[in-house]
Amino acid sequence: MIRFENVTKRYRGTARPALDDIDFEVERGEFVFLVGASGSGKSSCLRLMMREDTPTDGRVLVLGRDTRTLSDRRTPYFRRNIGTVFQDFRLLPTKTVGQNISFALKVIGRSRAFIKSAVPEALERVGLEGMAKRMPHELSGGEQQRIAIARAIVNRPQIVLADEPTGNLDPTTSVEIMRVLEAINAAGTTVVMATHEAGFVDKMQRRVIELREGRLVRDEQHGRYGDTSAVGTLRPEAEKGASALAARTAALEVQREVADRGVATGVVAAAAEAVAAPAASADEPGPTQRPAEEPVAEEPRVDESTAAEAEVDEAQAADEASPRSTSIPQVEVDVDELGMAERLGIERRGDDEVGPTS
Ligand code: ADP
Ligand code: MG
Repeated sequence: MIRFENVTKRYRGTARPALDDIDFEVERGEFVFLVGASGSGKSSCLRLMMREDTPTDGRVLVLGRDTRTLSDRRTPYFRRNIGTVFQDFRLLPTKTVGQNISFALKVIGRSRAFIKSAVPEALERVGLEGMAKRMPHELSGGEQQRIAIARAIVNRPQIVLADEPTGNLDPTTSVEIMRVLEAINAAGTTVVMATHEAGFVDKMQRRVIELREGRLVRDEQHGRYGDTSAVGTLRPEAEKGASALAARTAALEVQREVADRGVATGVVAAAAEAVAAPAASADEPGPTQRPAEEPVAEEPRVDESTAAEAEVDEAQAADEASPRSTSIPQVEVDVDELGMAERLGIERRGDDEVGPTS
């Protein structure tokens, strides 16, 4: 699902590489802690996974895609499968909780019916049902981070990447955030979380990848933060055994369950609403009148990575072929405000920026 092959990342004007010959693989359904001191390379690693940057040497494969050969044009479609959470929440202060969560969905042209069911569902998954009308400043830090997580999962991504999501929170609140991320993982989403905080990592007994000055010094299936006894003895290859398979099977089972109950109901509800209330969609720039296409978009993700790739392609083909992509600029959201323009593929970038940029 995510593979680093001999990845080195050098930033311009720095002597030591930020990442030095890193090799590891994350399987579908895993929960992985990326740990290490400040400056050890955790954020660089996550940025390579989101394709906010590309490696200087080596390859980064995410969902079957080599991030270096993936074009800028395709990147927004690729990123729809990846939810991101940051230390500083990054909520829009002038928008309601509901608007914060639905923002990206509107930008990518999701139907009004989809948004109407997906937003409350995401709020429920983070334990904040009924909060859609509140403003971010009315919420505690922990609640704001849970809103950010709801935003990250609302489009049902296959991967969630969290960069120090508890870094601004007190220990009790941090535990709540960890529980939310754990539940998201239990429902089948692959989670990679960077942290320098030992407490959770010790308690959760999940896989730990430890970086030190850009080098991978530990990759342990049920690790403890700061325990360096295994340094240099555990290779990523050794982890691809029964436990990884078991994790994957369990995740697929949960996904099927979700597919049978929740998602299928969502499709029916979305289609029914679109058929029953065509008048309501008249004022909408969005593609509410495409009920027949909704089941495709809502298909539960029980696919293997090749199918995931196909989905990225399909989404791209659909978006390129459909006139609905012309409705994107009409959406009343301030993309710059969130600093999300580039992630959503709205900002223009020159093709010559593809590749090992900095
Ligand atoms: P961490 O997230 O573990 O604190 P980072 O990935 O942010 O580590 O940083 C790893 C190293 O790369 C640090 O030495 C940092 O100073 C350097 N670095 C990170 N981003 C940049 C950048 N954009 N330009 C130059 N150096 C950078
Ligand atoms: Mg960092």
